Amino acid sequence: MAEVLVLAEHAGGEVKKVTCELLTAARRLGSPSVVWTGSGAGAGQARLAEFGADRVYVAEGAEYDEFVVAPAAELLASLVAEKAPAAVLIAGTLEGKEVAGRLAVKTASGVLTDAVNVVAGEDGAPVAEQPNFGGAITVHSRVVKGTPVIAVRPNAITAEPAAGAAEVSPVTAAVSDAAKATRITEHVVAEKGERPDLTEAQIVVSGGRGTGSAEGFGVIEQLADALGAAVGASRAVTDAGWYPHQFQVGQTGKTVSPQLYLAAGISGAIQHRAGMQTSKTIIAINKDPEAPIFEITDFGIVGDLFQVVPQLIEEIGKHKQL
Ligand SMILES: Cc1cc2nc3c(=O)[nH]c(=O)nc-3n(C[C@H](O)[C@H](O)[C@H](O)COP(=O)(O)OP(=O)(O)OC[C@H]3O[C@@H](n4cnc5c(N)ncnc54)[C@H](O)[C@@H]3O)c2cc1C
Repeated sequence: MAEVLVLAEHAGGEVKKVTCELLTAARRLGSPSVVWTGSGAGAGQARLAEFGADRVYVAEGAEYDEFVVAPAAELLASLVAEKAPAAVLIAGTLEGKEVAGRLAVKTASGVLTDAVNVVAGEDGAPVAEQPNFGGAITVHSRVVKGTPVIAVRPNAITAEPAAGAAEVSPVTAAVSDAAKATRITEHVVAEKGERPDLTEAQIVVSGGRGTGSAEGFGVIEQLADALGAAVGASRAVTDAGWYPHQFQVGQTGKTVSPQLYLAAGISGAIQHRAGMQTSKTIIAINKDPEAPIFEITDFGIVGDLFQVVPQLIEEIGKHKQL
């Protein structure tokens, strides 16, 4: 069975959930081999085995922690040349997409980004599902040149455990001077509250201009906390300075694909939809029954969010007490 390379996303030895999602997709295509850059592979090995990794290629060099993305792309390119994998799966994060693009150029291969699913086609070759034009059209694409390089959105595929050997083999690849052109000078750990990471959260509660002000946006945070959810915002909110830009969902913000996306006071502009349309269940609260967001919702509540959200929080509180 052909190998399928999966570039691991990890931090402090902890395997990110998206890596387990990629392994689930990789198992449909062949025998998954994780590519682990930098330190911490020992700590992550058990989790990789739990999600079906057959092998773990570990490149421990300090370069992977010291320089931005380019060394990882070079390492993957050398592994593609050596192992001739059926595909390379990479997390569709900002960094992951850059690695994917660079790898595709280095290996003269086709690249597919923003995939929300990957399956084996009739001939066994990978077929990626991609939402296009802000989610209005879904296409199924395949790479016809070189080794398919596919960047998959975090949270789009449900990670399913399956036992694997996760046999570790150390690998080395020379890192070129060009790849060392941009050095990481400092790591600043983002201040993280109790809330889950926006792109990995199972539930996202987002607020829009309808919240009226930074103070008004507070009800969105309260609802998110009642649900154990991450907070998102429309661009109208982040541009107005009511909430930080890093929480913006949409075409020029984060792409999310949670089990539940709850949008309050958001009209549903195409640029906002582009970042949340693949959510499994969508609920909107909007006082305008004609708001475009209702075109894509599973459940809609027509009403003033300042009346609806506090009632929701109260009800959630009652259920928690049961
Ligand atoms: C190139 C480009 C990129 C963009 N990228 C993004 C992006 O990444 N993300 C993004 O979000 N936008 C993006 N935008 C902006 C986008 O076009 C919209 O302007 C924006 O999404 C609107 O935000 P909103 O829905 O919060 O505000 P509005 O469109 O003003 O909608 C507010 C909604 O709140 C409702 N409302 C008002 N008061 C209440 C109340 N009390 N209770 C309930 N409902 C209420 C209104 O009925 C209305 O539907 C981009 C635009 C461009 C041109």
